[in-house]
Amino acid sequence: MHLKALTLRGFKSFASATTLRFEPGITCVVGPNGSGKSNVVDALSWVMGEQGAKSLRGGKMEDVIFAGTTGRPPLGRAEVSLTIDNSDGALPIEYAEVTITRIMFRNGGSEYQINGDTCRLLDIQELLSDSGIGREMHVIVGQGRLDSVLHADPLGRRAFIEEAAGVLKHRKRKEKALRKLDAMQANLARVQDLTDELR
Ligand code: ATP
Repeated sequence: MHLKALTLRGFKSFASATTLRFEPGITCVVGPNGSGKSNVVDALSWVMGEQGAKSLRGGKMEDVIFAGTTGRPPLGRAEVSLTIDNSDGALPIEYAEVTITRIMFRNGGSEYQINGDTCRLLDIQELLSDSGIGREMHVIVGQGRLDSVLHADPLGRRAFIEEAAGVLKHRKRKEKALRKLDAMQANLARVQDLTDELR
């Protein structure tokens, strides 16, 4: 499995559609200060489901949408697509190539797609969670984050390892199941109260 291509449209400084193709092995992105190198890394985090504006170096989520320059008006939407080579079947989906897409509108609406089909954020998170790449972004070590990874406390380090090992998905499912169980217990108690009242 490797990342094949990343397409940005209206994302941060990338107003026009821009596609970066990656070959297996090491890719280097070089360019002058402020030319958008970190924006490319932000786009990778964003398309994989990053929900924190701060992690994307912005104040609010809409800050990822192209805000305009002196010669170009702001845009109403940002879109990023990431194509992953899945010929080794590392992702649990029956496609040799998987494209995940995230779109955000200035009015706050957003959409996620897997190979062009609309899906939920959860579907993307689950698809990626066993692959070692995902929302927690331990694989994306941005400027200044290397220190925090190296100096993570034991719990933080455990979270990195758990995500890499694919445990996170099951932990989330367990938490969801426990929440449902709690709600069910509350319903049961309510039914019991009603039954007692009717006696
Ligand atoms: P450095 O080498 O200094 O770290 P860089 O190549 O990583 O720079 P980025 O931080 O990726 O550069 O890009 C910064 C540029 O992106 C700035 O010029 C900023 O104005 C622009 N930018 C960020 N968000 C938006 C946006 N929403 N709309 C338009 N331009 C944006």
